[in-house]
Amino acid sequence: MASDPQNLQAGSAIQERLRTLRAEVAGVKSVLRLTAEPPALVAVTKTVTEAAIREALEAGHRVFGENRVQEAAAKWPSLREAYPDIELHLIGPLQTNKVKQALALFDVIETLDRPKLARALARERDTGAVLPRLFVQVNTGEEEQKAGVLPAEVEAFLALCREELGLSLEGLMCIPPMDEEPVPHFALLHEIARAHGLSGLSMGMSGDYETALEFGASHVRVGTAIFGPRGAA
Ligand SMILES: *Cc1c(COP(=O)(O)O)cnc(C)c1O
Repeated sequence: MASDPQNLQAGSAIQERLRTLRAEVAGVKSVLRLTAEPPALVAVTKTVTEAAIREALEAGHRVFGENRVQEAAAKWPSLREAYPDIELHLIGPLQTNKVKQALALFDVIETLDRPKLARALARERDTGAVLPRLFVQVNTGEEEQKAGVLPAEVEAFLALCREELGLSLEGLMCIPPMDEEPVPHFALLHEIARAHGLSGLSMGMSGDYETALEFGASHVRVGTAIFGPRGAA
């Protein structure tokens, strides 16, 4: 690949931020963490160019998040060929007609959010598919426009997934309301996970990942703090 000085400079800024963040995330000690594993940094690459993603890969990073199946399908298969140990997380809504495609692309689906999707995943497993790791998205802010299981319905949904459908679940994920203090949402997600024996907690983005880590996050999903503002190109 040709490397003009401008790209090199942008690349090294990404690599610098990534190194700092990776060390920060991995070094966090929280008594609230529900797993012995150190927390993981999911580098969110929605709208991020392939060149910028390659900078992150060259810096040794392997865990990434995309929020659209189509966009992931356009970018990641070729990158995975070059870097087979990539771990790709789906962090946006999944329509049931895209389940097969999602299974081919993602190692983790963080947005299991309704019975119809749970049943579609179970059906794929029943016909031989190996399912990715699964997180249930919880709509902690009970926002009408936001995906996720309502807190009052989590218990029944987890029972459906685990007992009726035999799905193995790793954890919970939330996106707190934009205009609210995130702490009560992180605390609620932690409480629900603990009560149900789930160790994965995907919470915290560029603006609040430090707080999420204090509250026991196993995964923080960070985009702009690594790659810069989206849509600036
Ligand atoms: C875009 C996105 C992120 C990352 O957001 P930043 O503020 O850029 O860190 C995290 N989680 C989800 C679900 C997202 O869609």
